[in-house]
Amino acid sequence: MATQTKAPKKKESKFQKLFIDEIKDIYWAEKHLAKALPKMSKGATSSKLASAIDKHLEETKNHISRLEDVFEILGLKPQAKKCDAMAGLVKEAESILEDTDSDTMVRDAGIIIASQKVEHYEIASYGSLVAFAKKMGLKDVALLLSKTLEEEKATDSGLTKLAISEINEEAEVD
Ligand code: FE
Ligand code: FE
Repeated sequence: MATQTKAPKKKESKFQKLFIDEIKDIYWAEKHLAKALPKMSKGATSSKLASAIDKHLEETKNHISRLEDVFEILGLKPQAKKCDAMAGLVKEAESILEDTDSDTMVRDAGIIIASQKVEHYEIASYGSLVAFAKKMGLKDVALLLSKTLEEEKATDSGLTKLAISEINEEAEVD
């Protein structure tokens, strides 16, 4: 039979397009961050801060592969789209390293504020993406994204604790 019996492919909605664009954005952001974190860790004076950053680097690599799983579920090839926000946040972190002296707790306090800005950006992104995925009925995607969201939140609160319990105090007498 020559007639086309295949159902017409359902067009991607504008909401779905926005969702996919935002996944591409956070994919770029995570990859960019993975390249920047070793510099932050090396720049840290406190060994506790350095190991917190190293731990988060390992988690960040996982965030990247979770996003690759998300692309796969969506039937797409992983594609990164430049995230100007993360590019700016990383630049800001780098200028803190330039503007502070090495082996000081002031530098560590600076690394923490820059890192927390990054984590908050990620928390905002993943928080909305989880809500989008749920709305679209993409349960597996929502689950993957919420695992990452929880790790971003835990990193943020770990940094707050480290700052309050020791680093800020020592930075004050630097
Ligand atoms: Fe992340
Ligand atoms: Fe993070």
